[in-house]
Amino acid sequence: MRTERSHELFERAKQLMPGGVNSPVRAFGSVGREPLFIADSRGDRITDADGNEYIDYVCSWGPDILGHAHPSVIDAVKTACERGLTYGACHEGEIVLAEKIRGHFPSMELVRLVNSGTEAVMSAVRAARGFTKRDLIIKFEGCYHGHSDGLLVKGGSGLLTGSVPDSAGVPAGAADCTLLARYNDLDSVRELFEHDPESIAAVLVEPCAANMGVVPPEPGFLQGLRDITTEYGALLIFDEVITGFRLAAGGAQEYYGITPDMTALGKIVGGGMPLAVYGGRHEIMECVAPLGAVYQAGTLSGNPIAVAAGIAAITELERTPGIYGELDRKTAKLEAAARNAGLNVNRCGSLMTVFFAGKRVTDYETAQSADRSEYARFFSYLLDNGIYAAPSQFEAMFVSYAHTDEDIARTAEIISAYR
Ligand SMILES: *Cc1c(COP(=O)(O)O)cnc(C)c1O
Repeated sequence: MRTERSHELFERAKQLMPGGVNSPVRAFGSVGREPLFIADSRGDRITDADGNEYIDYVCSWGPDILGHAHPSVIDAVKTACERGLTYGACHEGEIVLAEKIRGHFPSMELVRLVNSGTEAVMSAVRAARGFTKRDLIIKFEGCYHGHSDGLLVKGGSGLLTGSVPDSAGVPAGAADCTLLARYNDLDSVRELFEHDPESIAAVLVEPCAANMGVVPPEPGFLQGLRDITTEYGALLIFDEVITGFRLAAGGAQEYYGITPDMTALGKIVGGGMPLAVYGGRHEIMECVAPLGAVYQAGTLSGNPIAVAAGIAAITELERTPGIYGELDRKTAKLEAAARNAGLNVNRCGSLMTVFFAGKRVTDYETAQSADRSEYARFFSYLLDNGIYAAPSQFEAMFVSYAHTDEDIARTAEIISAYR
């Protein structure tokens, strides 16, 4: 595999951007290689700057559930561009998208469009605090909720493989209001509530964790969170930035049948453009400006191009009724292949992680027991065989509707042969 051109670009990029990248996990640091620079993408394939083509299981970290460059999404964007890139004013597309979102997520009675998952979760937490008039929040070790100050505590994703366990530059005060619990451990949540029964605004959770590798909720975990938060008058916030429109059209809340008070969406909801959403019950969202005292704004929020891409992507999902069954079936083949090769796999729908860990991974601690250098070897094996998987042990493989049966079969064969 020739990588001269990617190498050359990486050298240039390093002169201009920290580590040559605009998001840390792209640097391939934890798999001991240099990043590939992508020049083109279509369907289930990406092509790098040297002309190598790969079957892609990163799918831009989730947004590309329909595959890359889906014609309906591209057409919608082109059409929208003709009418200008941004207005900084209201337009009908925002309403159409919000109606679609509420149709699939009935718990999101009022929504606000923002530009990134980070912003969506940060704003949801602020609204939760404004509504409950409480300051503390509970998050889980290994869950990632974007890079806002208060949420960079045992954060998951790139934080798990970076050189710093958590982020420098976060004042102690910013993290003081974040309490940590263990994923899949209701007792750890109950203890925090017993200690601070009237100060906890919300429990924030990835309803299926996917940023310490895929770690599904154990039966009863989400229901337990629902019960405990209700008992103590705190809100339950589902961070569905990955799981929204991924596990089902109505996200993890539909998939597991648990209704949160607030939800954050990102990734798929923008169809590949920078768009994210937070929302929840009327009385909570009525605390947000201009109706209420919780301030949150955005020059490019509800950007017409991003909104057009989001509407097109969701419309396409709606037009493809069997899509979630298909995604499940395809990903199950990859799971079976990995088990064939004696590997330890967690899977939930079209999200899957092969863990190089000796035991079943159910939380941050068991995820951390995984051998990163073994994963690096697996990653390189896949890449050298034309398969682009996440360049980190603590991420998901994403399967899209564009993954053809042939490419799934080929991938399964390569995984099965791993020794
Ligand atoms: C990706 C992600 C975020 C952050 O979204 P950005 O758009 O990268 O800011 C937040 N929460 C979860 C669960 C995510 O996977």
